[in-house]
Amino acid sequence: APAAAPEWLERLNAPQREAVLATEGPVLMLAGAGTGKTAALTARLGWLVMSRRAWPSEILCVTFTNKAAREMRERVGELIGPAVEGQNSIIPWLGTFHAIAARMLRRHAELVGLQSNYTIIDTDDQLRLLKQLIQAEGVDDKRWPPRQLASCIDRWKNRGLNPGDLDAAENEAYANGKGQRFYQLYQDRLKALNACDFGDLLLHMLNVLRANREILEAYRARFKYIMVDEYQDTNQVQYLWLRLLAQGRQNICVVGDDDQSIYSWRGAEVANILKFEKDFPGAKVIRLEQNYRSTPQILAAASGLIGANSERLGKTLWTEAHAGDKVRVIGVWDGPEEARRVGEEIERLEREGARLDRTAILVRAQFQTRELEDRFIQIGLAYRIVGGFRFYERAEVRDALAYLRLIAQGSDDLAFERIVNTPKRGLGDKALEKIHRHARANAVPLLRAALDICDTDELPARARGTLLALVRDFARWREEAGRLAPAELVRVVLDESGYTAMLQAERSAEAAGRLENLTELARAMEDYETLGDFLEHVSLVMDNDANDETEKVTIMTIHAAKGLEFDQVFLVGWEEGVFPSQRALDEGGLSALEEERRLAYVAITRARRRCTILHAANRRIYGQWTSAIPSRFIAEIPEEHLASETTLSGGASLWRAQWSERDDPFAHVAREQPARTATRGPGWQRAAAAPFDPAPRRVAQSTRSAASFAAKPRLDLKVGDRVFHEKFGTGTIAAQEGNKLEIDFDEAGHKRVIDSFVRSA
Ligand code: ATP
Ligand code: MG
Repeated sequence: APAAAPEWLERLNAPQREAVLATEGPVLMLAGAGTGKTAALTARLGWLVMSRRAWPSEILCVTFTNKAAREMRERVGELIGPAVEGQNSIIPWLGTFHAIAARMLRRHAELVGLQSNYTIIDTDDQLRLLKQLIQAEGVDDKRWPPRQLASCIDRWKNRGLNPGDLDAAENEAYANGKGQRFYQLYQDRLKALNACDFGDLLLHMLNVLRANREILEAYRARFKYIMVDEYQDTNQVQYLWLRLLAQGRQNICVVGDDDQSIYSWRGAEVANILKFEKDFPGAKVIRLEQNYRSTPQILAAASGLIGANSERLGKTLWTEAHAGDKVRVIGVWDGPEEARRVGEEIERLEREGARLDRTAILVRAQFQTRELEDRFIQIGLAYRIVGGFRFYERAEVRDALAYLRLIAQGSDDLAFERIVNTPKRGLGDKALEKIHRHARANAVPLLRAALDICDTDELPARARGTLLALVRDFARWREEAGRLAPAELVRVVLDESGYTAMLQAERSAEAAGRLENLTELARAMEDYETLGDFLEHVSLVMDNDANDETEKVTIMTIHAAKGLEFDQVFLVGWEEGVFPSQRALDEGGLSALEEERRLAYVAITRARRRCTILHAANRRIYGQWTSAIPSRFIAEIPEEHLASETTLSGGASLWRAQWSERDDPFAHVAREQPARTATRGPGWQRAAAAPFDPAPRRVAQSTRSAASFAAKPRLDLKVGDRVFHEKFGTGTIAAQEGNKLEIDFDEAGHKRVIDSFVRSA
């Protein structure tokens, strides 16, 4: 007989309990943020096991992130711990769609032409593969970048489409009607490699279930219960896969909030939640209305805001919590002041007893973390970045910094290695190996070695031309570093090196984010007078790697914060063009804007007790001050739930009036620009003597201190000696100059080579 209802079940409210106890048949739990959906789903999982309706291995439970899966597993363990000995911690089919599909696919790999030890390739491998295919087909990969093909293929996979399923319009989406062909080629290639990409995990499993009735029936028999959290963000292939599995027993319980659908850019379809009742007739729909997370003020602010969306089901939320503070809106002068204010507010709350680890700053886009990080480092406020890298650790920022470091210090070999082929210049391993060998043998930096080698016939003409161009670029940039402001220099370098063009060619949302980060890097450099000062600042910031147990505030994107809650939440950059994002505004459609508004709703509803929104009147973009207009989302929050503060004349009422009239252009309050503050450091970077000289010179040795390395013993070569060169064969030395030799080769003719590449014949 089922166990008696445990005490933790009694603590749930009536509709939550109903959702837990309605174990048989389809259930849709549709409710707003913070109403205990995830809590109810967790309890349901516990109850199913505890009441012996199913073994843990007979329950399929999908969460949106691995972190959510981990938390749910722990929580269920706490609930049912003593009840089911030895079984409780193992809930094998609890995880993300990807994790679950990967686990299934291992068992059926051969049915899609893979072996069970298949590898899952990452984005880098994927792009490399696609590029090979594109080039092999003779398509111009500059015009049709691999990334564009990758995003088409992802989209098709998210929609459950195999190559054969593409219609003419989709086929046109890449290389003038070659979409389908490339998709097919790619899938064939993956198969040959016994590999698949992330998108394949679900698509392959969908194909397996569709084509093999007995396998489908076996899973239907196994999974007595299916549960899905964050159902509003499922995409088509996930939906089709779930529907297939659930249509056997119909014991499926999905949980979601149409107002929190924020992943349409990744193929999520909010329509899935809206048609659940059609797919599963007789579904029990449970609405939760009591919010346990936030204060009434925060809740009312969020509800008022989302009320501006037209495409929604609509719902009521209430809370028993006492009123609490209004949502604060703070208008500041510019970005640095915003970061300063956030830091001050957090320190003040901390003094009042607030916990740092229950404090979050949510940003719309990754680039926004930079100013906050710089400020927090300065005041010693511990922070962590969740779901991403710290600003100066991001790949594109590191690439840019590597260029700058190499300009500042010609001997920075790590920097050289990082950028010599980024963007891709077609310098092969052979060429790089030559540079390395020469550098080692002569104890010169790589950049110097590259220059030396360009002066010889060691490399094929094309590689030599490429390398020489790069070396000359650095010579020029080095000169310009003396004339240009650092921020200007980085723009020049990124443009002239082809780095910007490389990202622009990708035409993906990810690349756009990377470009934003680089713009932000240039903005950061505007505070410094010399490149050396700036690089020193970066090394100090990077050094502040507090990887310890101290309490830290969290900085993360709103997307990453889904499902989480914090006592106090700071929402920064609420300005038109930042949030809503410029991309959403450019798109112009209603749906892009409504998705941004849902994102704003998710942002506010993360807050339990305090929610503070900030917006700046000025942002510096490409060295230009531009006036920023406060986000329309602020104006859409009912005024009675807001407490506005601003240092700007006109203040909140001014722009609120602007937004209500809409067609009136925002009359920005003019004020003089703040003085440029230059942070000065000791400038050791500047003072360091760089061994690299722009003009090609013959002898490299003189500028290096011989003590810093053990140079390979030199051959004692002289004119007339017979020598062997690995590429050109044997020959006779005709002339010698420093470490360069002119040799008359028996077969290859007269060549200039580096002495470290020859040995006595
Ligand atoms: P979101 O839409 O943001 O994912 P949610 O609906 O999943 O929110 P939960 O995260 O499950 O909400 O719950 C929000 C908060 O309310 C949590 O702190 C949770 O512990 C608490 N909570 C949930 N149900 C109850 C309840 N019946 N009594 C008291 N607190 C509850
Ligand atoms: Mg939740």
